[in-house]
Amino acid sequence: MPGHDEEVLVPLADVQRLALSQARPLPPVRMPLDDALGCVLAADVLAYEDVPPFANSAMDGYAVRAADTAAAPVELAVVGSLGAGAASLVGVGPGEAIQIMTGAPIPEGADGIAIVERTELVAPDGAEAGARPRVRVLDVVTPGVHVRSAGSDLAAGSVAVLAGPLLPAQVGVLASIGAGVVLVHPRPRVGVMTTGDELVELALDGSAVTLAPGQIRDSNRHAMLATLRRDGFAAVDLGVVRDTEEAVTAGLKQALSECDAVLTTGGVSKGEFDYVKVVLAQLAEAAIADGAAVHELSVAIRPAKPLVITWLPGGAGASEAGSRLVPVFGLPGNPVSSLVSYQAIALPVLRVLAGHAAAPPPTVPAVALEDLRRRRDGKTHLLRVDVSWQSDGRLGVRSAGGQMSHQLTGMAAANGLAIVQDGDGLPAGALLEVILFGPIEPYRST
Ligand code: AMP
Ligand code: MG
Repeated sequence: MPGHDEEVLVPLADVQRLALSQARPLPPVRMPLDDALGCVLAADVLAYEDVPPFANSAMDGYAVRAADTAAAPVELAVVGSLGAGAASLVGVGPGEAIQIMTGAPIPEGADGIAIVERTELVAPDGAEAGARPRVRVLDVVTPGVHVRSAGSDLAAGSVAVLAGPLLPAQVGVLASIGAGVVLVHPRPRVGVMTTGDELVELALDGSAVTLAPGQIRDSNRHAMLATLRRDGFAAVDLGVVRDTEEAVTAGLKQALSECDAVLTTGGVSKGEFDYVKVVLAQLAEAAIADGAAVHELSVAIRPAKPLVITWLPGGAGASEAGSRLVPVFGLPGNPVSSLVSYQAIALPVLRVLAGHAAAPPPTVPAVALEDLRRRRDGKTHLLRVDVSWQSDGRLGVRSAGGQMSHQLTGMAAANGLAIVQDGDGLPAGALLEVILFGPIEPYRST
C-alpha cells in the first residue's frame, strides 16, 4: 500500500505502564504548613495532644450542676463569669451557676450548660446590699449537654491526618495540633522548553510583535506552563530553543540541572530538523552507566502519536541529594498533541514524583450525546469533548470543536478527552470512558 506506515504503534496502556515503571516520588522535605496545600503528606500525622485540649462550653449561657435543674424552672446563685481564654478559679457548688461564654473551660463541679436564651437574670434583692445575682434556669439541663469534652474532635495518639494529598481542612486539623511544619513530597519543579525555528516569543509587556513569513507564535510554552500550574507543579519556563543540535543540547543540559522533570515540545517527529529526539538519544547513551534510558515511541493514539520518554541524570538540588533520574518527555509540537500527551502520559508520571500513587489517568463513564464517528486506523482517538451533567444523572459528551491537532480552540473549549477505540466510532447514546481535565458545570434544569 503506497504511503503505508510500517512503524510499530504501541498501545496507550503499554506506554503509560512503561512511563510509570521508572517513576519514583521525590524525597520528602519538611515544609511550613501554610505552604503545603496540595502537596502529598509523606506519612500519617498523629495527634500529640487532645483537641479540644480541655472540656469547654459549646454555647453562651450558664455552667450548672445538671442535678440542680431537675425541678426546673429553678433559681441559682451566679458566682462568676467566664470568657474564652481563661480558667475559672472557683467551682460551681450546689445551687450555684457560673456565667460562661462559648469556648471557655467548664468550671469544676459543673456538668452542663443552660443556654442564655433559656435563662432569666433575677435582680438581686434590694434589701441585701452586695447580694449575689441570681439566674432562673427555665429548662432541665441534662448532664453533658452543650459540653465539648477534651479530645472529642481528636484524641491524643490517634491519627490526625493520613498520608496523602493535603486538603484545606486538613491544614486546619494539623494547625489544631500545633504541627507548624509537615513532612511532604515537594512540588516537582517541571521545566517547559519549546523548540522550533518558526516560533516567535510572546511580548509579555503587551507590545505587538509582527510575524515574518513562515513564523508562528509560541503557544505551547504558555499553555503547558499554565497546565502545570493548574495541576499544582512548580512550572519553570525554559524558553524557546532553536532547531539546532547545539541549541537543543545546551537547553536540555541546563534544564536537567534545575528541574525534577522536563517537558519539551516539537522536534520528535520524522522531519529534517527534529533534533530533540536525536539529542535525547545522545544524552541517554552518554549516561547509560547511570541508569539513563530512552524510549522513542509511536503511541497508538490520535492526536499525539510521536513521543520520546527519557530518564536522564539530574534534578533540582541534585548536588546535595546526589543525582536522580529526571524524566524528560519529548512531546509532539502540535499544540493539541502536546497537551493530550501531557494529560494521557506525562501527568501520571509527574504525579508520582509529587508523591501520588502510580496510576494511569482516571476515567469516568459518560454517554455520547451525538455521533462520534471515526475511521479505522489502528489508533485510539482522544476526542476533545465538552462533558456535562444530564437530567438522568449521567455525564454526556459532545465534540468541543475542531478535532485536528493544530486546532487549539477545540482543546480550549473542552473539559475532557473522550476515548474512542479503533473502529467506526460510536453512535449517539453509546457509553464511553472520558479522561476529565477540567471542571464540569453544575447541572441546570432550565
Ligand atoms: P514539530 O513536531 O516540531 O514538527 O511541530 C509540529 C507542528 O507544531 C508544526 O506545525 C509546528 O509549527 C507546531 N508547533 C511546534 N511548536 C509549537 C509551539 N511551541 N507553539 C505552537 N505551535 C508549535
Ligand atoms: Mg519543529
